[in-house]
Amino acid sequence: MQIIPLRAGDRVKLKKPHPCGGAFFSVLRVGAEVRVKCETCNRDMTVDRIKFEKAIREHIKAES
Ligand SMILES: [Zn+2]
Repeated sequence: MQIIPLRAGDRVKLKKPHPCGGAFFSVLRVGAEVRVKCETCNRDMTVDRIKFEKAIREHIKAES
């Protein structure tokens, strides 16, 4: 299994869009759970990291 090096500030596109229709999320916090914010409706949610990594279609790394 591949570990995705997620970091706060990264953006992700998920396989399944948010109920609002948006597919892009900003990563706010990374730990055993990941806190992300929907870029379309600005709502945030906390997801189990393993489940979250499986749901990622595209990982857009933050510029550092
Ligand atoms: Zn949304």
